[in-house]
Amino acid sequence: MIPRKKIINNAVIDPNKILPMTYLWARKHYKDGIANNWTPEEIPMQQDVEQWRSMNALSEKERRLILWNLGFFSTAESLTANNLVLTVYRYVTNPECRQYLLRQAFEEAIHTDTFIYCCDTLGLDPNEIYNMYNTIPSIAAKDEYVIELTKSILDPNFTTEGTDNIRRFVHDLIGYYVIMEGIFFYAGFAMILALKRQGKMVGIGEQFEYIMRDESIHLAFGCDLINAIKSENPEIWTQEFQDEIVELIKKAVELEKQYAYDACPEGLLGINAQQFCNYVEYIADRRLERIDLPKVYHKENPFPWMSQATDLSKEKNFFETRVTEYQTAGSLEW
Ligand code: FE
Ligand code: MN
Repeated sequence: MIPRKKIINNAVIDPNKILPMTYLWARKHYKDGIANNWTPEEIPMQQDVEQWRSMNALSEKERRLILWNLGFFSTAESLTANNLVLTVYRYVTNPECRQYLLRQAFEEAIHTDTFIYCCDTLGLDPNEIYNMYNTIPSIAAKDEYVIELTKSILDPNFTTEGTDNIRRFVHDLIGYYVIMEGIFFYAGFAMILALKRQGKMVGIGEQFEYIMRDESIHLAFGCDLINAIKSENPEIWTQEFQDEIVELIKKAVELEKQYAYDACPEGLLGINAQQFCNYVEYIADRRLERIDLPKVYHKENPFPWMSQATDLSKEKNFFETRVTEYQTAGSLEW
């Protein structure tokens, strides 16, 4: 009998044999990632540079929000990439999942490149931006939380053998995927996209839209991975463990709300700081549901336009841009 492929602990399986596949969702996420190919240099930054240099295009609070988000993401992308290749890839031995992880690692390299590109084009001081995860307490608190939450699988002696270790592994995967990529990225996404909707720093806004689309696939893959390990090892999913995860997510939500208040204390035109917090609670409930845990917050989505930004396909975006340009040219001719 051919042994069944599993996500982890595949001692009897050859990790080089990707066919036949067991986990078609991993393949689908891989294909979705490929369909989203982009690089930061494709997005023009000239208008952003002009606004950033101008004395009056941006208020002090808008500049603060931009700096805080560049500061958080510039190092968070590298932290995520390192976690992925040094730990997740090591223990997830299933070949179709590994194919997706390689794709995700490439996307994290693109995201890292995006913040290099933003620093270069805006002429920001890299020592300031790349040190904000030490110097800004609300950023440091998020990074420290994830590092603490995911430290067991960084231990070189860690294995995924046995119920306690499998549970530990799922705990750390929730730290990477659900908390870091699924919660800690989203107040920042909402702030930058809100700014873009007001015609401010639209180049950075578009870069964030592309990153957010990638991240929504990373998160979907991560949740499918977590759910598959749960279903193959149901003994790990005790009530006690479920309660522990809910508490970890509630703490993460508090840290993300603190970050949102710190980056944007008075809100933006038409948006108050509380709405960013409501948004964080709303998305936390979506994450809880995705891994079969009960909702905690029961908030309405204060920013329905955020889900449209995630769904936006590059092709559609390109097409709409072209149509607008074409119409402008046409009306000039008439
Ligand atoms: Fe990323
Ligand atoms: Mn990611």
